[in-house]
Amino acid sequence: MTESLQIAQLGNPILRQQAQIIDNVTDERLQQLIDALIATAVITNGVGIAAPQVSESYRLFIVASRPNPRYPNAPVMAPTAMINPQIVARSDEVVKGWEGCLSIPGIRGLVPRHQEIEVEYISRDNQLHRQQLTDFIARIFQHEYDHLEGIVFLDRVESTREIMTEQEWLLMGNG
Ligand code: ZN
Repeated sequence: MTESLQIAQLGNPILRQQAQIIDNVTDERLQQLIDALIATAVITNGVGIAAPQVSESYRLFIVASRPNPRYPNAPVMAPTAMINPQIVARSDEVVKGWEGCLSIPGIRGLVPRHQEIEVEYISRDNQLHRQQLTDFIARIFQHEYDHLEGIVFLDRVESTREIMTEQEWLLMGNG
């Protein structure tokens, strides 16, 4: 298996940039980046990873939800590359849930997200997709989309009292 790419950590300015639109989906270098991102998400127990997190400031992320030691209750889905993603509709209902981030290791925060969203993205085989996403998958999408806008989940936590260490979060019965 490919090795994990190096993950940019909080404080690295690349995490605060607006990522660039991708013009050529079939580009070989882009396809290799997608493979490397998927491998990195699997190795690091991530349920999602955005290209800016590996210092590639492009509008691309992977959603790869499955149960793992960092997210024991995650639903299962095939790792999916989403290119030039957009949120085209948002539910009024907002729900708070715990999030972590590979760029902010060891920390969890309670983050409000839209419970349901309608999204568009281009898949790695250059097809346009339009989907409704709900609950945890909608949460992953919104978290990864934020990375393309230079936003991290801590920016959306409403109180510092809603931040905890990953160790305490797991002890709370989430693991
Ligand atoms: Zn993240």
